[in-house]
Amino acid sequence: MIDFKAISKQYNTPLYLYDFNHIASQYTTLKEAFRARKSLICYAVKANSNLSVIKHLGDLGAGCDCVSIGEVKRALLAGVANYKIIFSGVGKLDEEIYEALQKDILMINLESEAELERVEIQAQALNLQARISIRVNPNIDPMTHPYISTGLHENKFGVDLDTAKRMYIKAKNSAFLDPVGIHFHIGSQLTELAPIKESSEVVADLVRSLKALDINIKFFDIGGGLGIDYDDETLIEPYQYAQAIFSTLTGLDVTIMCEPGRFLVGNSGYFVTKVLYEKINGDKRFVIVDGAMNDLIRPSLYNAFHRVELLDRKEHISKADIVGPVCESGDFFAKDVDLPASYHDDLIVIKSAGAYCFTMSSNYNTRGKVAEVALEDGKVRLIRKRETFEDMIKNEKDYL
Ligand SMILES: *Cc1c(COP(=O)(O)O)cnc(C)c1O
Repeated sequence: MIDFKAISKQYNTPLYLYDFNHIASQYTTLKEAFRARKSLICYAVKANSNLSVIKHLGDLGAGCDCVSIGEVKRALLAGVANYKIIFSGVGKLDEEIYEALQKDILMINLESEAELERVEIQAQALNLQARISIRVNPNIDPMTHPYISTGLHENKFGVDLDTAKRMYIKAKNSAFLDPVGIHFHIGSQLTELAPIKESSEVVADLVRSLKALDINIKFFDIGGGLGIDYDDETLIEPYQYAQAIFSTLTGLDVTIMCEPGRFLVGNSGYFVTKVLYEKINGDKRFVIVDGAMNDLIRPSLYNAFHRVELLDRKEHISKADIVGPVCESGDFFAKDVDLPASYHDDLIVIKSAGAYCFTMSSNYNTRGKVAEVALEDGKVRLIRKRETFEDMIKNEKDYL
């Protein structure tokens, strides 16, 4: 049991708490599942980019999957080795590519033919060979929320099989490109194994046909996307996941890479917020808390479900909306949930708040970003201090 009350007293609310032991056990479970083959788990930093979270995973052996040079720098600062860092994303800047090459990271994941040319130019300027991988869009429906589906041609990600092949040949013939990897990532919060297996088959076939052209792919990157339990979803078992991938790789000597974000940190995180007021409008009950959509936007953005718990109360249960102080009707954490009567300063814990929560937070309504704390082996420590008003205005105040 986590003592949210004591922790909130010490660090105030709203607050994010991450259970580092849970993160470690998620990492180990996945790593063990792939034990039969060479593997590298690259944590998708965008899920939760707190330096201490990255360092924790790096210490366990994880690499990092980054989608901006800022994330690459975070990974390096947190002590992750450059040869375990990969750089993905559809819109990399020339400067980002240049810097990633200078830092000699493991590889850059290309998402278009045009990008291949930009990387070649930057590599030539540095007079080196850029290790690259190509993101293939297998055009397979991942059966997840359309906002987090990425593996269909209608999504902006990756290139089709023919384009990928053409790009590999171009890369092989370039003095400044070294095609070492292949990549697919079909979506997030995936709960069905079949589309992943099917994608892996398609991509593995491409690897075989590249082999015939003397293009030898060393890294087979299966992306991230493993779903987690927000609301009793049926989940993909890591062991079954690994077995499904293995079954597609017969005869191929590759290092399997995967890029989980949500799976590693999602259910390790809690958002703790305090009840300010209750009010009734007509026959609707609202519980107004000190956290808001700027702190945790997933319900507002995707209509995402998060379990909520009002601590220490059991009486007079009725339906309620849990809402924040921000001036938007979309500012809610839960709608029509059964909730006991609550009182000023009661605590509400929002579950599954470790991934895509703090990292998506903003200063909307001039609300400072909240504190983040880590819980490890029964001890709690601050890993990001609460933003002050001064922090929020520091880039503006000199221009008055
Ligand atoms: C976002 C992303 C991931 C991580 O997705 P999760 O659903 O958090 O596992 C992995 N790879 C790429 C390329 C991504 O864009």
